Amino acid sequence: MSALASPQKALPTVRTVADLRGIVSAWHRAGERVALVPTMGALHRGHLALVERGRALCPRVVASLFVNPMQFGPNEDFSRYPRDEAADAALLAGAGCDLLYAPDVAEMYPDGFATTVIAGPVAERQCGPFRPGHFAGVATVVAKLLLQSQADVALFGEKDFQQLQVIRQVVRDLDIPVAIEGVPTVRESDGFALSSRNRYLTPEQRGIAPSLYRTLAEMARRVEAGATVAAVAEDGLAALRRAGFSSVDYLDVVDAETLRPLERLDRPGRILSAVWLGKTRLIDNIPVVPRP
Ligand code: AMP
Repeated sequence: MSALASPQKALPTVRTVADLRGIVSAWHRAGERVALVPTMGALHRGHLALVERGRALCPRVVASLFVNPMQFGPNEDFSRYPRDEAADAALLAGAGCDLLYAPDVAEMYPDGFATTVIAGPVAERQCGPFRPGHFAGVATVVAKLLLQSQADVALFGEKDFQQLQVIRQVVRDLDIPVAIEGVPTVRESDGFALSSRNRYLTPEQRGIAPSLYRTLAEMARRVEAGATVAAVAEDGLAALRRAGFSSVDYLDVVDAETLRPLERLDRPGRILSAVWLGKTRLIDNIPVVPRP
């Protein structure tokens, strides 16, 4: 049978909170748990891994698609962020998603909208100073998506590790009744982490990009082998500069929970970094695990 003979079933799509809640409530009445996968679209295998994990945990999976203006700075890429809802819907349907929630900006932020969710210190480190207001935008829209959907489980990628920790903080502090699941980063075969923004890279920049993960992996290996954090961080920074990144916003070895700097590997840690290739900012991170 050719692929054309079995067209993908169109993914049901809702655009209002009322329609979303109507469908989720019916699933809940039928005893079905519901997973939510928030996205900004331009989907790739990383997003689909979240849908697949949601599918493994719950009989129903909702993906949201909303390019959230509140989390972009004035000089960031909101207007040119890649948008292709039809292609995204086809990928989601193929991954086993049941419903797409794609509200417009007026549905998410109606006239008079005024509340901001601020997560505190965990949002003030690493990306915080470089992207003022970014995590407030993320925390606000994710709190809304969780409350709008009434999902039982919500899935987020470890690719955006600081974002994941911000969301955990918000859910804990606001008693939002949802379980947050982190999903490991999906990478290309050369280690480069998948991201919707990777399509901005020129072929030359794409050649440099995997050095970010290679550097993090080498740093993790050395820290886990007992090298001092300060020495490894210094060498890591030098390696990133040699590799050809235009600039490095940060390269931090931190406590995996609080994201505070770690001097010794005496608890689970994470190495987090943000670098630039031309006008494109890349982030990545890797776990560091203390020896037993
Ligand atoms: P975004 O559409 O970029 O806002 O991402 C939506 C979700 O997908 C977030 O939870 C991201 O952390 C997650 N995500 C993005 N890239 C990856 C990846 N390479 N591996 C796993 N999750 C990812």
